Amino acid sequence: MPNLEKNTATAEPPADTTGLGEIERGGARVTVDEKRMINARADVNQLLPLKYKWAWEKYLAACNNHWMPTEVSMQADIALWKSPDGLTPDERRMVMRNLGFFAASESLVANNIVLAIYRHITNPECRQYLLRQAFEEAVHTHTFQYIVESLGLDEGELFNMYREVPSITDKAAWALNHTQMLENADFRTGTPETDREFLRDLVAFYVVFEGMWFYTGFAQILSLGRRNKMVGIAEQYQYILRDESIHLNFGIDVINQIKAENPHLWSKAFQEEVRTMLRDAAELEAAYGRETIPRGMLGLTAELCEQYMRFIANRRCAQLGLAPVYEPTENPFPWMSETMDLKKEKNFFETRVIEYQNGGALSWD
Ligand code: MN
Ligand code: FE
Repeated sequence: MPNLEKNTATAEPPADTTGLGEIERGGARVTVDEKRMINARADVNQLLPLKYKWAWEKYLAACNNHWMPTEVSMQADIALWKSPDGLTPDERRMVMRNLGFFAASESLVANNIVLAIYRHITNPECRQYLLRQAFEEAVHTHTFQYIVESLGLDEGELFNMYREVPSITDKAAWALNHTQMLENADFRTGTPETDREFLRDLVAFYVVFEGMWFYTGFAQILSLGRRNKMVGIAEQYQYILRDESIHLNFGIDVINQIKAENPHLWSKAFQEEVRTMLRDAAELEAAYGRETIPRGMLGLTAELCEQYMRFIANRRCAQLGLAPVYEPTENPFPWMSETMDLKKEKNFFETRVIEYQNGGALSWD
């Protein structure tokens, strides 16, 4: 709650960073210069005037990408999954572990947005995007419910993998470690220590979880889809990938904007810490690959997944303005990079996207 009496020339009053505090009757109108990513003093309830156009554009792009998992036919997947020799035991294990990893991860990412990130981002246009992203995470969780129901999978097995399969637990625990401090109701940004704590959470969830681990997950299922197996799930993963690539890029933009506004936070020591985080995350993914694809299959082995993770880790370093953590690595899945580099708003989903864009013309009677 802001206490304006404590205002002095040297110490400004604590701002209402949630937007739910006392209304400042007759307060000055917000100007663009006052808007900041974190620790803003400007009223967080005023979307306009916009400062961060990139955040608003991502919100619009996300809305144009609307989809629902139930639009994808699961008939071919059901037939293949039920046929005794439709998939090899190795392929089945890979699919199950992949689904198990994503099923819980979507909830962890959603909880992090709503319970940890949102209240510390003091900018309304970024909050607008976060509200959209939170809904998309619900759509992604819905996808796994729909897959479980369609294929008749053991729901307990799938949704408990993050507690029962050690390499999945290790990844989830590593990320949770970086959100637990923020989840504390007394946590406040505003000191270099707590601001860096907030940056660590953004790195762990946007760059590592959504920007690294999800990408090997996509590669695994899309490589099956390329061989015409589990094509329904593969199509759903392409939609999720399209969403996640915006989540990732939003996170990168948020981190880089916080850096630009608070250069003191991005010290040499902190940069090293972030590089170590990305390296540790790549090692955790390599262990998961070994547990998920112990023998490998056509075009997909644990070694290739590890190489892909190193390639992606270096790419994320570059996006954050950091030195690479690995020797230059070639992309073992160039077809993934083609998918990622497509302009997401006008890629292979064009027809469906246009249907939604024309939604305003539908009649509702
Ligand atoms: Mn998601
Ligand atoms: Fe996401």
